Amino acid sequence: MDIISKSIKSIHKNKITVIAITAFAVALCCIFAFVGNSSEPVEVISDVASEENVSTALLSGEAIYIDGEFVAALNNKTDAEEAIKTVLDARISALSLNANAENSFVNKIEIVSGEYSENTFVDKVKAISLLSGETVYDYTDKTLAVKLSVSSVINVSENVVLEHNTKTVYTDSMRNGAKKVVTKGYDGEGKEIYRVVSVDGIETERTFVTLEVTTEPVDEVIRVGARSNGSNVASLNKFIKPYDGTVTSYVGPRWGRTHNGLDISKQGCHGDPVVAAYGGTVVRADVYNGYGNCVIIDHGDGVETLYAHLSAFSVKVGDVVSTGAEIGKIGSTGVSTGPHLHFEVHVDGEIVNPLIFVDYD
Ligand SMILES: [Zn+2]
Repeated sequence: MDIISKSIKSIHKNKITVIAITAFAVALCCIFAFVGNSSEPVEVISDVASEENVSTALLSGEAIYIDGEFVAALNNKTDAEEAIKTVLDARISALSLNANAENSFVNKIEIVSGEYSENTFVDKVKAISLLSGETVYDYTDKTLAVKLSVSSVINVSENVVLEHNTKTVYTDSMRNGAKKVVTKGYDGEGKEIYRVVSVDGIETERTFVTLEVTTEPVDEVIRVGARSNGSNVASLNKFIKPYDGTVTSYVGPRWGRTHNGLDISKQGCHGDPVVAAYGGTVVRADVYNGYGNCVIIDHGDGVETLYAHLSAFSVKVGDVVSTGAEIGKIGSTGVSTGPHLHFEVHVDGEIVNPLIFVDYD
């Protein structure tokens, strides 16, 4: 009895008059729900000897707590939940919050099943009124201000421009200082996604989540000449003759068309090795229209060399060759009047005179 009596006296909230000994066991259940909820001690009248002063019975119900503070009890959980939901919706509307956001009360709101004093029971309408702060809970002579805040969490996106980079390629295939845009650059577009947290409509936190790229930027590539004005010494230092013979035809008009390369041959040249004029990657090694057996080497920097009319291949596509490496044999395949090497140089897909690069007399 002593232990129970002490427990009851430690109740710090609602006045509960307990008189029936038989009610003690049941009462203990709800006692703990109230313990520690207020710093203001409330005297509890514990008169186990009297059976006349029954002012409040204990009833099963669902109590709403805000941040640990008892607000009121309702008959059923659905009513309690609906009251909370109604108040939340009203707050969202009153604060003009985004209905698509994840809106919830910042406060800790709990619905706790238990046995509660009859005079703490309210209906749904009254509960809404209490939670809305329109009235305060005062049947204990204690005023409890109901202060609910709504937290809204939503992802927002901001359009951003993804600026392109500019890549400069220096080449000795152009005179010093000359510039040419090889690839036009474009800015890209994207959306930066942020997680925004607001309390009662006021932003309190903004966290970057991710960048969604709508359009990738395209790097601009500019070719800048690094060859000394009027000189091609640098090129001559890099390129070697693919075949050491006599130039029988140069770039220029021939037979009513334009001849795109150098024809190089000499007596008994059929089957002689042809070498790479410069190091690079083999991007073609097959029959190519009138070129017959043809090898094309990509030297990077937009420069390619082409070797035509070969009688045999010494490389295949994908091979990386160094300057002077054998790539095939002199032949007369394709449209050809006799064994010779047809040699072309392309810069950015355009035909240039190989004599800029290789030194034939
Ligand atoms: Zn030719």
